[in-house]
Amino acid sequence: MIKVRFAPSPTGIPHIGGIRTALYNYLFAKHNNGKFLLRIEDTDRKRFVEGAEESIISSLKWLGLNWDEKITHQSERLSVYKAHTQTLLDKKIAYKKNDAIWIKMPEDKIFAWKDLVGNKKISFEGKDQQDFVALKSDGFPTYHLANVVDDHLMGITHVIRGQEWISSVPKHLYLYESFSWDPPKFAHMPVILGPDKGKLSKRHGAKSTLDYKNEGYLKEAILNYIAILGWNPGGDKEVLTLEEMVKIFDIKDINTSNPKFDLIKLEWMNGIYIRSLSVEELKEKLKDYGINLTGYSVRELNSLVELAKTRIANLSEFEELINPLFNPMKQELESEEKQIRDVLRAKLSTLDNWNEEKILDILRGEAKVRNKKMSVIYKIMIGKERGLPLPQALTIIGKEKTMNLLNE
Ligand code: GLU
Repeated sequence: MIKVRFAPSPTGIPHIGGIRTALYNYLFAKHNNGKFLLRIEDTDRKRFVEGAEESIISSLKWLGLNWDEKITHQSERLSVYKAHTQTLLDKKIAYKKNDAIWIKMPEDKIFAWKDLVGNKKISFEGKDQQDFVALKSDGFPTYHLANVVDDHLMGITHVIRGQEWISSVPKHLYLYESFSWDPPKFAHMPVILGPDKGKLSKRHGAKSTLDYKNEGYLKEAILNYIAILGWNPGGDKEVLTLEEMVKIFDIKDINTSNPKFDLIKLEWMNGIYIRSLSVEELKEKLKDYGINLTGYSVRELNSLVELAKTRIANLSEFEELINPLFNPMKQELESEEKQIRDVLRAKLSTLDNWNEEKILDILRGEAKVRNKKMSVIYKIMIGKERGLPLPQALTIIGKEKTMNLLNE
């Protein structure tokens, strides 16, 4: 059975790159009816960050990347690593120096494998390799030892991770060989770059995945965007649900070039997902996001959500659009603007047929006579130069609340 793992170290925030690794492992496992395991590589006590594991777990849960079996914590398996180090000492592959156990790398060997990304052979010569620590003097294993021992004991068949680990593979291959174990297959994904082709910065993706949640992105959009950041699903279909991705995911379609993080595209994709929701679904998402949807009539709320749906790129923008209709940000008006306001109040208050068309006629008519742009009408009514299309919005909130907007 295919078994893969996501093996983050709790040394920092789970950013887009890490979550992409988790996602590709998940897709590969599910596509092949295999298992997706979660292993916390918490053996580097110096780099341990409080709360990092919790945010890794909440990110995976938020995105629905549920793992099989129970989480493995390497820090709870010190005796396992110690026993395996003893095997290597007995075989004279390891030696002791300064209270640490080191692995002697052989100079005469070639370490080669066929990487599944790009299906290319990668090889390293033993003579270019240096001895490395397997077990530190504090009794904790290094990444290399714990990673190999656990991948073997957990029955991992495929290691899918970032390209930055390629240089560790010779050490790992030597460990597999020394234990007389078969190594798993390796797939190393190109690293995600910033839009300027430099290192991904905080502004672009190198922040916590949960930050995107807090900013009002939908998990469906995040998953979809991350998925196509380095994977080509084929055809011209880019908008895919998790189930659709599982169906077609194949390692051979992972691109060999470095993907560039593109915030504009993520925003576009988020908009697509928001617009694809029904009013009821969007209301649910807004509520989960923490937006207070009480204080409206059902009809009013449904119509406002429907109207806002096509104009928001993320959930956080909803309130910015809706609030000014109920609590306008009062701005100082110039004397002509005050006159316009009074005329609008007079005309709208005597309007019998409260409908979009009639309201539009009045607003547009007044702007025209005064030779003003519609943005001035917005400023007068809602305190902002733009917002939801006023004729529609005012139709929804009704005459009484519209009058409130036009009070002095
Ligand atoms: N703990 C490593 C990391 O933080 C795991 C690398 C691997 O998947 O082997 O990414």
